[in-house]
Amino acid sequence: MSPVKPQPANRIILLGAPGAGKGTVAKALVDLFGLSHLSTGDMLRAAVAAGTPLGVQAKSFMDAGALVPDELMVGLIADRVQQPDCKSPSGVVRFLLDGFPRTLPQADALDAGQLGPDLVVYLAVDDAIIVDRLCGRRTCPGCGSPFHIHFAPPKVDGICDRCGTALVHRSDDQEAAIRKRLEAFHRQTGPLVGRYAACLVTIDGAQAPADVLAQVVRTLRARGAIVENAGQTANVVS
Ligand SMILES: [Zn+2]
Repeated sequence: MSPVKPQPANRIILLGAPGAGKGTVAKALVDLFGLSHLSTGDMLRAAVAAGTPLGVQAKSFMDAGALVPDELMVGLIADRVQQPDCKSPSGVVRFLLDGFPRTLPQADALDAGQLGPDLVVYLAVDDAIIVDRLCGRRTCPGCGSPFHIHFAPPKVDGICDRCGTALVHRSDDQEAAIRKRLEAFHRQTGPLVGRYAACLVTIDGAQAPADVLAQVVRTLRARGAIVENAGQTANVVS
């Protein structure tokens, strides 16, 4: 018997704690592989604005202050991937899903909708590093410019370079709030690492961003993801 050839990786899920660097990786994969980046917030807003049947249903939950049920969210994803930007020239559905699933029941709902991933990229970063990354953020309440006390310090301590306003340390970026989000991530989303073991690749997200990216790109190429911008990809990897 010949070994089963793994599915080419075209339905990709990005998994990682807040602050693990998912946003940077997602943007690069969109640019390099021409993948459509599906975020639940964007899909919800678009469906509600367009008044699709599922959008109308979703709105009723949101208006009532309730969470949108997992099956409904999967329905929105199923609708979304029918759009041309989620198909290769030969009609293969391909996407990069970020922020969903966050829980085991959501992963089950995704499978039930025939939308399970063929590759899960898990950006693993120690909590201590994430706390350091997020806790050092400072924001300008005047113009919104972001700073970081270690990685992007302002020229004058505590003052916005652009408009001179005193920078603030938002409550979201304070250690207690970050620890709480990390705890929720480990409790709810952590089990997905085991759930997706068969198609999961763990990347050390504590490396320099360029190294994280190069490793993710190598992984996708090794898994036969369709490369739309081969020149750019080669530059990142070499
Ligand atoms: Zn400013």
